[in-house]
Amino acid sequence: MNGIAVVDRAVAEAAAALARAREVVLVAHVDPDADALGSALALGTALHRRGAGVQVAFASPERVPESLAPLDALGLLVPPADVSAAPEVLVSCDAADPGRLGSLGRLLDTARCTVMLDHHGTNPGFGDIRVLDPAAEATVVLAHRVLVELGAPLDADVARCLYAGLVTDTRGFRTAGPAAYRLGAELVEAGADPAALTRTLMDSHPFAWFEGLGRALERAVLEPSGLLHTTIPLADVLRYRSEEIDSVVDVLRTAVEAEVVASVMQVEERRWRVSLRSAGTVDVAAVATALGGGGHAMAAGFTREGSEQEVLAAIRAAWPGDVAAP
Ligand code: 5GP
Ligand code: MN
Repeated sequence: MNGIAVVDRAVAEAAAALARAREVVLVAHVDPDADALGSALALGTALHRRGAGVQVAFASPERVPESLAPLDALGLLVPPADVSAAPEVLVSCDAADPGRLGSLGRLLDTARCTVMLDHHGTNPGFGDIRVLDPAAEATVVLAHRVLVELGAPLDADVARCLYAGLVTDTRGFRTAGPAAYRLGAELVEAGADPAALTRTLMDSHPFAWFEGLGRALERAVLEPSGLLHTTIPLADVLRYRSEEIDSVVDVLRTAVEAEVVASVMQVEERRWRVSLRSAGTVDVAAVATALGGGGHAMAAGFTREGSEQEVLAAIRAAWPGDVAAP
């Protein structure tokens, strides 16, 4: 069976499992983004409207990012401690591996049935039903396919959640293929407002952030290999919202000289979360995987202990052999 048929069959199996379920827990990955939470909330909203008991959760941080809170129109989000201990069906959304579910990964062992929805090429495969398609631009594309298979109506609340994941994971449709553009049009017709959603999700920062951004840009270093990196110290990570901190990598990537950009964020004294972006030559999923993370060829990440210099040295050491080392 080819890859397309495998995904088709998994979509059908996922829809069948969800159609029967009376109780569904949908989990987004830690530090949830619009794709993870949008997938979970789109499916959760539709299942709730079909009469199922629905909980949506993520293991950390404690609070939902401010820009994503409006996606939870029905109030389906619950703190991790309140999540049913042994759900009838568990849906893992946009998590490239079980570790990305954080403490909620324990549900993989207790749920009666697990559906995994994901589009990361580094995903090793987990769960009973695996809707895994690295060709999908976003996990919401797969969530949408499951909703179609379920015969669930695409109302404005669901459309907003799906659009949020689609527009962010494709960086404003820059990396979208024809089918994703068509889905975008369908979602706008169903009530998603592109201007309002992109303004909150991608284009909104408090003025005070410009000072922090200025510091991050001042610290940026371009190495001869084309590795461009900057470090965001713990004080700034704590001072600003994740929306601000996570946006630094998108500014860095506009440097034409950069092959790979790395935003090195200090999340504890000796713990660093790193976002990697590639201009095309270097497969950053391979780099991130070598360092304990994962992701896509053009966008990946990992978290690592050590000093700032040790983390930078690890990135240089994981640089692929056929590309000039920094
Ligand atoms: P970001 O840099 O925006 O946090 O993540 C970029 C991409 O890499 C996303 O698709 C994200 O899911 C993935 N990613 C980020 N951190 C990790 C990690 O620690 N492990 C894995 N497997 N994937 C990650
Ligand atoms: Mn995604």
